[in-house]
Parts: sequence; structure tokens; C-alpha cells
Amino acid sequence: MAAAVRTTCAYCGVGCGISATPTGPRVVTIRGDEAHPANAGRLCSKGTHLGETVGLAGRLLHPMIGDRQVRWDKALDLVAKRFRDTIARYGPDSVAFYVSGQLLTEDYYVANKLMKGFIGSANIDTNSRLCMSSAVAGHNRAFGEDVVPASYQDLDKADLVVLVGTNTAWCHPIVYQRIQAARTARGTKLVVIDPRRTETCEGADLHLPLRPGSDVALMNGLLAWLADKGMVDRAFVDSHVEVPDGFWEHLATGHDLWTTAQTCDLDPAVLLRFYEMFAAHPRTVTLFSQGINQSIRGTDQVNAIINVHLATGRICQPGAAPFSITGQPNAMGGREVGGLASTLAAHMDFAPENVARVGRFWAAPRMATRPGLKAVDLFRAMGEGRIKALWVMATNPAVSLPDAGNVRAALEKCPFVVVSDVIADTDTTAYADVRLPAAAWGEKDGTVTNSERTISRQRPFMALPGEAKPDWWIVKEVARRMGWSGEFAYDHPADIWREHARLTAYQNEGARVLNLAAHAAIGNGAYEAMEPFRWGGTPFADGRFPTPSGRARMVKVGQMDLQAPLADWPLTLNTGRYRDQWHTMTRTGLASKLARHREEPLVEVHPADAAALGLNDRDLARVSTPQGNSTFRVMLSEGQRVGEIFTPIHWTDRTSTGGRTGLLPRPLVDPHSGQPGFKSTPAALAKVETEWRGFLIVRAEEPVRVPCLWATRVAVPGGALYEVAGNGDAARLESCLPRGERVEAIDATRGTRRVAVIAQGKLAGVLFVTRSGLLPSRDWLIDQLQAEDVGAAVLAARGPGSQPDKGATVCVCFDIGLNQIVAAIREQALVDVPAIGTALGAGTNCGSCRPALARILTQTNEEALDAAE
Ligand code: SF4
Repeated sequence: MAAAVRTTCAYCGVGCGISATPTGPRVVTIRGDEAHPANAGRLCSKGTHLGETVGLAGRLLHPMIGDRQVRWDKALDLVAKRFRDTIARYGPDSVAFYVSGQLLTEDYYVANKLMKGFIGSANIDTNSRLCMSSAVAGHNRAFGEDVVPASYQDLDKADLVVLVGTNTAWCHPIVYQRIQAARTARGTKLVVIDPRRTETCEGADLHLPLRPGSDVALMNGLLAWLADKGMVDRAFVDSHVEVPDGFWEHLATGHDLWTTAQTCDLDPAVLLRFYEMFAAHPRTVTLFSQGINQSIRGTDQVNAIINVHLATGRICQPGAAPFSITGQPNAMGGREVGGLASTLAAHMDFAPENVARVGRFWAAPRMATRPGLKAVDLFRAMGEGRIKALWVMATNPAVSLPDAGNVRAALEKCPFVVVSDVIADTDTTAYADVRLPAAAWGEKDGTVTNSERTISRQRPFMALPGEAKPDWWIVKEVARRMGWSGEFAYDHPADIWREHARLTAYQNEGARVLNLAAHAAIGNGAYEAMEPFRWGGTPFADGRFPTPSGRARMVKVGQMDLQAPLADWPLTLNTGRYRDQWHTMTRTGLASKLARHREEPLVEVHPADAAALGLNDRDLARVSTPQGNSTFRVMLSEGQRVGEIFTPIHWTDRTSTGGRTGLLPRPLVDPHSGQPGFKSTPAALAKVETEWRGFLIVRAEEPVRVPCLWATRVAVPGGALYEVAGNGDAARLESCLPRGERVEAIDATRGTRRVAVIAQGKLAGVLFVTRSGLLPSRDWLIDQLQAEDVGAAVLAARGPGSQPDKGATVCVCFDIGLNQIVAAIREQALVDVPAIGTALGAGTNCGSCRPALARILTQTNEEALDAAE
């Protein structure tokens, strides 16, 4: 057996260390790296199941021009020529790169250098723009540099953790587990501020379900109350903080408890309790994420949080800091190299002295002298014909950008689109003139930076398949063909690392906290062996900030007017992630276990709204906004505020006929950061009637086009499961079944049709549809895809001795369903989550389902109490 390789998780910004042991061709055993400071051996459900995603299904393995496989030389020559010709004819700002937080720092560095130093434009932006650019802008305004002033160790030392706009239990599970461990060990208090009651709220000391977009009012109200109680740290503020004129006067009016409670739509008593908890615990970490950043006031919301920490001196000390946590594995590395259109390189902006400095370092012939187009503006410019050549690297903007319908129109219009990606067929590659096969996780070699500034190696443990190449190699080959061979003469990612590290130190003189001088002169061996390290130590510990005055800056921010519901769009749409899926599911969608947690894209609706709209749980409903519409499965949820709905971001045209959240949000952005406001779009909801519903299970690996109104696909062991619904004759769906011996059963009274196809004694596919009857659990039928000697009895959807329906999957590690958990709680009188673990195993591996177990436990016991009364 090969030795274990230490690498870093492919998914979120927690940046967990992984120990990967290859056990066969593209087979790997995944464990948490016990020596990694981010996770100490723990992994969430996504990280745990990474091994299921390293196969070659759907991979792009060869360079393609249109649908033609070509040699690398030919593809690279074409890309270089089209970019060169476009620049010669229309100027450097007529081309753009749209890159990704999935790229490694070395990939990012080369792409940024090519665009900003050699092409001479700053039109390189990243999908991290959608995730945390408001935090970048907020840090720059407050600290003078984009430095996260916190580490995970602060969560261990805090007495109070305030989670604002983050479903940490689902989106950053290992950080959530770390907070829970601190709560158990030292009684850390936990407050969750979020319009939705998510699983993150389970067991929290307080949940503030505030009105969306009222975070500035809440933080200003908190600061006004603290000031009134004399809890501003005057000594710290006087020595280390610039306070703008009129700041305190501004807070003195309209920020009293009652007004703030009314603005935020909160119970004043709950709000006061939060204020008092905050006042009582000087060691406070306020951790925030997309709920703060993804707003048209995201930067102000970030600064409202930082203001509170600066005013109370809760920064630069153990257990006290504002903490922005990032969504992507290398969003932070992208920020460090300058892979945003609004920054230049190595934490420098476009000030003339910085442009000159970086130009000298790169020996660049044509430096960009001003910021480029941020993501939303970039695609708008493309739609207007101003961007004529685009290179998309490792991302899927046709799905993920707001107003994605117009993004697709822009891609269609762009004269030349290159996509380098791991996956051959995505919603974005459909628009590509050239597709370039890139290295995937497990093949990549370089570094990433996590949310707490820890840089870790991503190491390869599999050979590059087909003709796939690292992203940095692809970019430097194009750069060489554009005429810059000497400047892009990299043979190894360590060459790029050294140059990047030297640039951070170049004429730094203490002006920037980001300074990797100590890591700039390492050899290839030391690069290979590099241990995780956190740059910047405890930044600002000496009370000095990288601003001209050396002081941090409080920023006067006011609450914007909150939009009243519109007549045609009476609801507010919020969007976000699921626990077990990642972005557009090109990787997590391959892991059948992960698919079981949520098999369809759901619109979560408060029961009161559902009743008013005539909607029942599991109906289909169309979400409409002025930008577009898409259909979702209804899920009733008391966790939603009345008037607000929630949809997930993950589904694409490749996986569903509906669930396309990206079509719905407005392309409105924060004026400072350019980050889109994904979290509150005016919307409407209406029932979608269908005459029949059912499911299709097929052995085929390749997706099947299912001709009906509603069809969503997830991977299952040995094949795929499609949930279907539609109108007219359902018999047309039988064209989706494979060839083989057919058996069928028809119940004309209920309009039920069950068809199975058996080939060589094995189940090749089943189609169950009904107009008015019940549908059986899919679990037993899915198991039959792997069974021998399947016969006509399969139509019963149950075998002899088969278990009762286990219900929706809660614990993906041990495949434990809701019905099993409820039965165990009732029958065995289980009283806590560890007891459920002892009884069923649920929650004892990755732990991602523990908040769900706590919620089920509470609900089941409440139901039992109600029944007893
Ligand atoms: S929390 Fe989960 S998804 Fe995020 S880095 Fe860790 S294992 Fe990966």
C-alpha cells in the first residue's frame, strides 16, 4: 500500500488537513490529518467522503476546440492568438479572466501576473467576489489591509461566540464542532444572529431572527447601548483608533433599544439579553460569513461589526476578534496574490507607487494602473460587447452568478470563450470555444490559505489522467506563446511560490502585514515538506495598524431603508448552501452518500405562507423574481420567518429541470466591494400542478434526459435516482429505461404504473409513476441495483424481511434515516445525542449530523410530551 499523503480539503475555507492513502488506481482512503492545526484529525461529511469523488466520471481529459479533440499545442496556440489579436485590435481591457477560489495560490499568482503585468488590464476577477469581497473591503477600510485579525484558537479562548449571518453547522462544520467543544469544555456562550432558525441554532444560548438586511441597525444599536453604559474602551480607542467626526453623535439618535428592536423586527427583551451577554463577556469572537457579505450593504455590515470590536478593545487579544470566515478552500490565497480586480498584488492596491513597485519586481512591460471589472460588471460588459475574449478557470458562472440568465446571454455573445476545468460538461463549458483539461484535487500540487491565514500544501496523490495539466502550467504556456517566455519560465510550483513570497516582502519595510520573506528562499524539498503555518501571527498585537496614522479606523455606517414588500413580489428570497453539497455539485454530486441528505432542490416556506398560497409539503412550486423563475420542491419550515423563503445554490441544468437559484437574484452589488446581494431578493411563489409523479432508478452512469416538467437526478450506489413529475402521458418516460426484459404492473384505479427492466438477472432500471396513489421508499429498490438474480418481485418494492422505510437520510456516514432515529428515541427513551450515537452509530463519525440529531431529539420529545398531556 502506498504511503499516506498529507494534503488539504478541496472544499470550504476551514481548510482541514487530510491524510490520503491511495489503495488502488484512483481509489483512496481519506482520514483527517491529526497534525493539522485547523482540524486536528476531524473532517465533516464532505471531507470524509472525498474518496468517492476522485473517479474519472465526467472528467475533461483532452484539450478540445469545439467538439474536436486537439493536441495541447494547437489549443494553446489558438488561445494565445485570439487573446493577442483581441488585445491588438480592441485594447487590453477587451479581455478578461474569471477565476476561482478553487485555484491554488500558485495558479492564481501566474494568472494575476499575466493579466495585470503583461496584458496590462486588471480584468481578472474571481468567484470569491461572490463570497467574501465585502470582508476584504471592510478590512481595508478598518485596518488599512485585508488582514483577518483572528484565528481558530480564539474560538477556543472566547467566552462568547456570536455567529452572524452564518449557518456554521452546515457550511463550516469543523469550526462549528470546535465551538461546541469549547462550549462543553469551558461553557462558552453562543449567540446566533440569522433570519433563519438553522441547525446552527440548536442548543445556542440565544437566537436573534432579525429582519434581513438590518444587521447595521443591530450592531449600531449594540454599540450605542454599550456607549451609554460606559463600556467603550476609551484607552484603547484613544491610543489606537481613528474615530470619524460625528461618529458618536450619529449613534446617539435612532439607535435606542426600542427603535433598534423595531428596525430589526426583534423582541426588545431578546435584544436586551444579547446586549447584556455581549457586555458581560469581553472575550468575544464575532464570526460572520455570507449572510453579512452577500448584501448590497455588505461592506457597511462588516464595518458595523468591526466598529463594535474596535470600540470595546475586543481585538488583538486572545479570544477577542471580529472573524470573517471564507467559503472557498483558497479564497484567502487569491486575496494574497491579488486575484481580485480591485487589488493589484500581494495586498497592494493601485496606488502609483505600488504599480511602479510591482512593475519593477515583475519587469512588467504593461502594468494595469487601475482596478478592473468586478464579476457582475465584467459579465455585464460582456453582454454589452465590451469583453471580447474571456478565460474562465475552475468555475461555473452560468450557474453561480446572480441573474444567471443574462450571464448566459453574455457568454453566448462573447466572441471567444475559453474554459479550463476538470469537468467536461458543465452549464458554462456549453459556451466554450476551447476547453482545456485541468488537474483536479488529488492531482494538484501547490498551496492554499484558509480563513485563519494558515497556508497548507495541497499535494498530489494520483497521476494526472489523460492530458490534464495544472492550471499554472496552462496559463504560463499561453503567456509564453503571447511573447513572455522568460518572465513565465516556471518548471515547478515551488518556483512560483518563491516568486510570490519574494513579492510579498519586496520593499515591504513593515508597510504590509503580509510578508512571507521567511518562506521565500526555500528549496523544492522544503516546499514539498512545508508544514502548515499561519502568516501574520497575532496581527496588530502591538496596537499598530497598517494605515497612514498607524491606527485602525471606525467607519460611520448607517442602516439603509429596508424595502417594504412589493405587490407583485411579496416574499423575500434568501439563498445558501446545503450541508453535504458543494457549489454546483460537480464533485460532491459524484458521492452517492452525500446525495441522500437532500435529494432535490427545496424551497423552504413558513407554514403560514404555504397555507396562504395553498401549498403543502412536497408540492412543487415556482419561485419567480423580476430576473426569472425556477421550480422547486416545497419544504415547510418553522425556521423561516413569515414572508421569507430559502433556496439552495447547488442545482444546475445538468442535474435538474428546476432548482436554478442563480436565475433569481438581482445583479445588484455592494458599492464598495462589488459583492452581489444574494440574500434578499423580492420574489413570488406559486403552486405548480402536475398530473402524476414518480421516480426513475437506472444503472446508467451517464445522465439521462427525462422528458417531463420535473426531473432531478442524484447519484446512488450503482446508478442514479431521478424524482419526476409531469403532465400528459407518463408512458413517454419509459424511453429512459435501458434495454432488457421488461416486467410491469398497472393499477388503473390509481393511475399507477410500475415498470422494471432486468438484464442478465440484474436490475437495469425501474420506473414508478402514479396519479393518485402512494409511492414506495426508494431505498430497497436502489439496493437492488447491486443485487443478483432480481426477478419480477422487484415491482413490490420490498423484499422478504426488508426493513421498514428508514426515512430521509440524516447521518450519511452510517446511512441512518429520520424514521430510524425517531423510533430509537421513542423505544429506547434516548435523552441526548451521544445516546443516539450509542444506539445507532449516528453522529459518531464526522459529526456533521449532530445538530440535526439534537433537533430531532427535541422535536420527538416535545411531540411525546404533547401526546401525554
Ligand atoms: S469543514 Fe469539511 S468541507 Fe470544510 S475543509 Fe473541513 S472537511 Fe473540508
